[in-house]
Amino acid sequence: MARKKNARRADPVPKILFVSVMVALLAAAFGLGWHFGVESTRFKGNILLVNASHRLGADYVPDELVNLYQQRHSFRLASSEITLTRQTYAAMESMFHAAEEANMNGYIVTSGYRSYQRQQEVYAQSEPGKAQEPGASEHQTGLAFDVTVETGEGFENTPQYAWLMEHAHEYGFIQRYPANKADITGISYEPWHYRYVGVEAATRMYKTGLTLEEFLAANG
Ligand SMILES: [Zn+2]
Repeated sequence: MARKKNARRADPVPKILFVSVMVALLAAAFGLGWHFGVESTRFKGNILLVNASHRLGADYVPDELVNLYQQRHSFRLASSEITLTRQTYAAMESMFHAAEEANMNGYIVTSGYRSYQRQQEVYAQSEPGKAQEPGASEHQTGLAFDVTVETGEGFENTPQYAWLMEHAHEYGFIQRYPANKADITGISYEPWHYRYVGVEAATRMYKTGLTLEEFLAANG
């Protein structure tokens, strides 16, 4: 009788433990599945990766877009309609203000955030291979802008370009599509396209010469 009672008392404890562990494992598996299956298609750590194999949905609109024309700005604008995320604008404003202090003037921002729908139009109007498919454009993140100066020689041959190449990382920007990296980025040299990733990541990429794809593969 005593033995039977002891056995009954001993039995439920491991069962409860077993069930608890299984529930925890299942919850963890669902949590991990969500994290790696869904989130990682967009974010690596806290850095948003967008390219032909990491696309944004038609409904993806960044938070806190600000119209650059309505903000104080140390750069020229090709249009009064250009928007970027607030953080990206703040970083670029600091950067172009510093450029101005260094007597580097004449930057013209030509493009910023582009909606999925706008990218559809751009893609439809472009020659094959010249524009990204909707969802695959980094402009949909609101973290990237295109810049140039008034020149007949190509932006990459100007002192303003040289200044950006030397200093953009100090403000959290990378040149996203460097020369001779098209096999990795999928996009040929774009001296005008800059992407905000934060000062720490930008500085590490500047020092190592890695593209965003390579950097995230090594640090993701
Ligand atoms: Zn661009």
